[in-house]
Amino acid sequence: MVDTIIRNGTVVDGTGAPAVALDVLIEGGNIVSLEPSTAVAADRAWDAQGKVVCPGFIDIHSHSDFSLLANRSAESAIAQGVTTLVTGNCGHGPAPTKRWDLTKRNTIGFSETWNVEPSWSSFGEYLEALFSPGLSVNVAPLVPHGTVRLAVMGHDARPAETDELEQMKDLVAEAMSAGARGLSSGLEYSPGCYSDEDELAALASVAARAGGVYASHIRNRGDDFDKAVNEAINICRRAGLPGQLSHLAPRPYAPKGMFDRVLEAIDRAREREGLRLGMDTFPDAWGPGPLVSLLPTSVYEGEASEVRARLQSSSVRSECREYFDEPTNYLLRLGGFDSLYLSYSKAYPELVGKSFAEIFEHMKLDPVEGIFELLLAEGADFYNVLLRHIYATESDLDHLLSQSTCSLGSDGVTAATSGPLSSFTMNRSSYGYTARFLREYVVERGMFSVEEAVRKMTSLPARSAAVEERGTLEPNMAADVVVFDLSSINDECTDAKPRALPSGIEMVMVNGEIVFEGGPTQNRPGRLVGR
Ligand SMILES: [Zn+2]
Repeated sequence: MVDTIIRNGTVVDGTGAPAVALDVLIEGGNIVSLEPSTAVAADRAWDAQGKVVCPGFIDIHSHSDFSLLANRSAESAIAQGVTTLVTGNCGHGPAPTKRWDLTKRNTIGFSETWNVEPSWSSFGEYLEALFSPGLSVNVAPLVPHGTVRLAVMGHDARPAETDELEQMKDLVAEAMSAGARGLSSGLEYSPGCYSDEDELAALASVAARAGGVYASHIRNRGDDFDKAVNEAINICRRAGLPGQLSHLAPRPYAPKGMFDRVLEAIDRAREREGLRLGMDTFPDAWGPGPLVSLLPTSVYEGEASEVRARLQSSSVRSECREYFDEPTNYLLRLGGFDSLYLSYSKAYPELVGKSFAEIFEHMKLDPVEGIFELLLAEGADFYNVLLRHIYATESDLDHLLSQSTCSLGSDGVTAATSGPLSSFTMNRSSYGYTARFLREYVVERGMFSVEEAVRKMTSLPARSAAVEERGTLEPNMAADVVVFDLSSINDECTDAKPRALPSGIEMVMVNGEIVFEGGPTQNRPGRLVGR
């Protein structure tokens, strides 16, 4: 007798092995065994005839650190079969904090209007706030380097002094002992961009001693893509820990041949030195970003009142016009404002989905005035105005996805179809990256087998994020399980309508409890992963 049996399904176990018809026996939140047509009885049986049964998807690149506090059922994640979120990516996140007014703007998917008051200062206190009173999903948190640096040095654009580095090491050590799975960095953003390799290697060493990983949004994916990858590899080599290279597609303007050279360098480090290096992407040629990323960092650093004053200053406006005229900015270099789209603005919902070229014309403002208006209108939430930009060419995206060490993630923020998060969208992958990957790359294009696609969303990200007890359907693993219908699976989001739950996800289980079955069940079995 066991708690639950999922009967008659086609088991895709997450390892990449061929699918087999098996029953999955679950007891006490763990998988007990997988057997053909078992005679064992169960308190509850779930019939998965004609459906795929696989491990819960592990979103290796999530920015849901704050949104989970505003919607504990993590609806947009569980509805697409995601059972574990790796959070704290790109050096961004809400803890540890010494000055909340600065930290909140280093938190992707933060909003003043979600009625969540920070009760924490340390990383451990944040995790306590996150897990009481419970979550539907598991979380494997990374401690964000940008947030750590901000707590010690604010936005100071200089190398760390010895005592500052010691303070940062203490914050990373505290986070690791509280349950962080590693350190993340975001080196195209302030304040991460002010750090050097020595600082990052020293902090990664602290994470390494606690068995952590280093995940990096590297410094450059354009002209200096190779240098930026080398820096990440050096950090892993010096600190002695596995690395995860986040959303690794080259910018479309990267020099020809650069991507292959970068992939070769990663392979060499892996083969010759035995370094463990993974990479990831979302399955979309469009990427998300904050609108402020179009501006010089000096414009949006500091307290909200200081930023607002700058956005109203005519000298800052002229400075930005010059900055726009000779674009060195990584987003401005992608092309004109007709290839950048507004993806979130609370103040201007009617402009969401339009290109910035259309928006400026509609507003009868020049680009600098238009951007400043969008930011000023958002009040204290100005950091939360989001855009959509060309992330990769289709062929580079395919090339990245086809790497055997490339995991899938959302680069998103969990949202919901009702409540305070219902008007928020980071990107359409927040709602449907798993379904889109299965529909587009398995069913329609046949680029991957279902077994390989599932591996890239389960065991591969689990190993890359040091999540040991999840990612495969095997005895003694946690019972995070998804049942889906491959014939009807579909991401129902479009760029124009980026908020819709996918179809084809029949049932989702976290630690042996059903969290989604036609809708969220409101169960809260999620755990801090690794504890
Ligand atoms: Zn990033």
